[in-house]
Amino acid sequence: MSSALKELNETLGFKSNDVFLYGFQRNTLVIIHEDENNRICVSVRFPIELDESDMERIKSWEKDGYAKKVGNDPDDKTSVDFEFKSSNKDKIKEVLEDISGYTAEKYPEAKIQCYGKDCTEDTNIDIYEVNGIPIPLCEKCAQELEKDLEKANIEEEAAPGNYLRGFLGAALFSIPGILVSFIFIMLGKIAAIAGFVYYLLAHKGYLWAKGKYDKIGVLIISVTSLLFVVIGTYISVVADIAFEMKKIDELADKPMSDLFLYAFAFAQTPDVASDIKKDIYLALFVCGICIVLYAFQAFKSAGQKLTIKKG
Ligand SMILES: [Zn+2]
Repeated sequence: MSSALKELNETLGFKSNDVFLYGFQRNTLVIIHEDENNRICVSVRFPIELDESDMERIKSWEKDGYAKKVGNDPDDKTSVDFEFKSSNKDKIKEVLEDISGYTAEKYPEAKIQCYGKDCTEDTNIDIYEVNGIPIPLCEKCAQELEKDLEKANIEEEAAPGNYLRGFLGAALFSIPGILVSFIFIMLGKIAAIAGFVYYLLAHKGYLWAKGKYDKIGVLIISVTSLLFVVIGTYISVVADIAFEMKKIDELADKPMSDLFLYAFAFAQTPDVASDIKKDIYLALFVCGICIVLYAFQAFKSAGQKLTIKKG
């Protein structure tokens, strides 16, 4: 958990996991996380559907400048999302106290219902972390969900890997990425962005081919993108040579396919081959950092089991 959230929770005293702070405040449920721009995102779930006057009251926090953004999903009138600057912890507390106080006074009997499907239970509701996401559930729904998740985990474990198919999909989708390598080689540059593009394409292709997305899957995607950094750089350099040949008067009339063959032969000569090797090493280094960073993130989450636990 980020230090901003930790500090905030010293004021609020909620439960927490790596990502979320959460807890009941009177008869509202509050879930807080920090987004990638260090904004504190506060989601308040109400025990009733809000009416116009409630929304007006809640919107006043935005007008007063306390909350950066106040909004709710137009289809969901039982929750409101706020955005705060991370330094606003006293204001966050003040806003939450005001809202929960207002709700408790206006709807004293209303209680948060179980979020289980078709369940309207509103007594003995606890917050469960389902894959780390806090969700209010009754005991019965929590038990049913636990059984469902266990079943899904077992099925996932037993599902075939389809790794070869995944690899072929990843390779197929990576082909257009060569164009990115080519553009940068034409500009005389080698850019990390090409590694990023190959990784995204390989990732898309792997999932498209329904390869199993576990840790082996992430490895296949990474290796495919590294492989394409090499292939893409090589083809791009040869193509660059072919286009340079086109500029020579004696060769200008030759069809491009011939020039590609000449360029390919030229690329085999020792001096040129060693230059290309240098380009490839450099590309692997520059793109490789980018790919490894991505793969590292994906590796942590890929193939994780579905979990539920009482918060
Ligand atoms: Zn329930």
